[in-house]
Amino acid sequence: MLTSLSHRFFLFLGAVLAIAVLALVLIGRWVVMPALLQEEYAMANGELDRIVRNLAYGQSHLLAHTRDWAHWDDTFWFIQGKHETYSQANFSRQMFDEMHYQAMLFFTKEGDLHWAAGIDPDTDLYSSCSTFIRECAWVRGLIEAIQPQLEGVSSEGESLLLTFPWPALVAASSILPTSREGTAGGWLVKVRLLDGRMEESLSAQTGLPVLLDSLSMTALQQHTRGHEPGSTLVEHTGEGEIAASRFLASHQPDDMLWLSTQLTRDRFRASTNTFRYALFWTAGLLLIIIAIVLILLESMVLAPLRRFSRFTKQLHQVHVTEDMPAPLLQRRDEIGTLAREFQALLSYQRQQTARLLDLSQHDPLTGVANRRLFDDSLALALENLPTTNACVSVLMLDVDHFKLYNDHYGHPMGDTCLVAIAACMEGCLGGQGFLVARTGGEEFSILLEGVTLEEAHEHADALRQTIVKLGLPHAASPTAEVVTASIGVACCSHIQCCGAQVLMKAADQALYLAKAAGRNRVRALGIDRESTAQA
Ligand code: GH3
Ligand code: MG
Ligand code: MG
Repeated sequence: MLTSLSHRFFLFLGAVLAIAVLALVLIGRWVVMPALLQEEYAMANGELDRIVRNLAYGQSHLLAHTRDWAHWDDTFWFIQGKHETYSQANFSRQMFDEMHYQAMLFFTKEGDLHWAAGIDPDTDLYSSCSTFIRECAWVRGLIEAIQPQLEGVSSEGESLLLTFPWPALVAASSILPTSREGTAGGWLVKVRLLDGRMEESLSAQTGLPVLLDSLSMTALQQHTRGHEPGSTLVEHTGEGEIAASRFLASHQPDDMLWLSTQLTRDRFRASTNTFRYALFWTAGLLLIIIAIVLILLESMVLAPLRRFSRFTKQLHQVHVTEDMPAPLLQRRDEIGTLAREFQALLSYQRQQTARLLDLSQHDPLTGVANRRLFDDSLALALENLPTTNACVSVLMLDVDHFKLYNDHYGHPMGDTCLVAIAACMEGCLGGQGFLVARTGGEEFSILLEGVTLEEAHEHADALRQTIVKLGLPHAASPTAEVVTASIGVACCSHIQCCGAQVLMKAADQALYLAKAAGRNRVRALGIDRESTAQA
């Protein structure tokens, strides 16, 4: 499971990407979105403040008008019943329409209605009368709503917000002479309905759609669902739109004025789109970075490591002599260092192996091949015999009277003598490509591939003569004054193929014959030719 470094990196970097994207999504969900909603709420709050300010401005405007009328000698006389033409002179349907007044109410200082004039909102009929009966019956509700508020109205006037019988702005002022001196003669009240016209006017001033209505406390509590009256309530009303509303306290404790507007969510959507854009870009960028990291990792680390590992795997096969690939050795990074170190170790190990092989195949005293190498080489030569169509000959050489030599000159001199004879044999036959081996104490064997029995006999005799010519003194030898050797020769051809044991036995027998015939001579089995050379 995940044995490949690239898989591990892929998984790890993939996990990093997933965590990063998850973190961004969570940040968006828990940090950015609440902040954006808060900002949207603040914006809605600000817009509602603007509408409320315009409403307040309308209120103060109405109050100024009311005060203007109330602090006027004509009105003062009218309330005292001394101005009979006042109503005809000042009230008209046209004036009410133009000034957007719904009603004007005159109260005596006792709080009783003195005069009422205005337009019935239900019938749209104009009326002007001194009582609230007949055509002026519609003002009754208004009078009942306003009368309790009159006590607290100062000479500067008072603005009221009514919700019943209609939502309306009300301005009330005490009636004084134009000089504003003396005691109040009563109250003048002007009423402006918060109707469609008012909504249009507020819309024109603020550039926002405005809705105004009255709401009972019970309905209000259901509607606001726990929101404090006076606070702003934001609801999503559709794709890209919100409704912002606020409840304004009226002067009637059981009711509130409901103010609402529709706002577009352009800023909110632009911000969320920007955040999403940033999120996708971040995720995309991370993906690209991860892809680049993986590609670099693959090309700079993983591919060279795979090449390295392929090379080390093939080293398990025997006879592989290849060196570490050059591109790995030439790298100037850690992998290059590792490859060079590995190559150095490999070369050292190959040297040691070659040395061990050499030690295991050569005689330590004379340096020529040992019995193991001779046996292996002979077996191989005999194996190849049918294909080479040639002969394989062996010489078996034994130094004559070597025990006596040792006894006479000492063992170290005996060693020196053996080294000299081995060197002589190497010079004579080894130089011609034949294998010279020390197969016993003072016994040597020579493998002559592709050499017939007769040729082998000639080689053996030439060797024997060369040994004699070496002239190594052997004072104790009954055969000659110098060191001599006897040689047995045997041959195996592809016609008369034989095994290594048979061949070596034949050579041994030939050697025995040479010894028996008086030493310092060559004998070949099947050839009875006496060597002519004598020491
Ligand atoms: P022959 O002519 O019948 O071959 O008589 P020989 O004395 O050569 O044969 P023998 O088998 O009786 O003696 C062989 C001697 O070779 C005995 C042994 O001490 C000696 N020898 C064997 N290996 C070594 C060696 O490595 N160094 C030395 N100095 N002498 C060795
Ligand atoms: Mg011997
Ligand atoms: Mg001997």
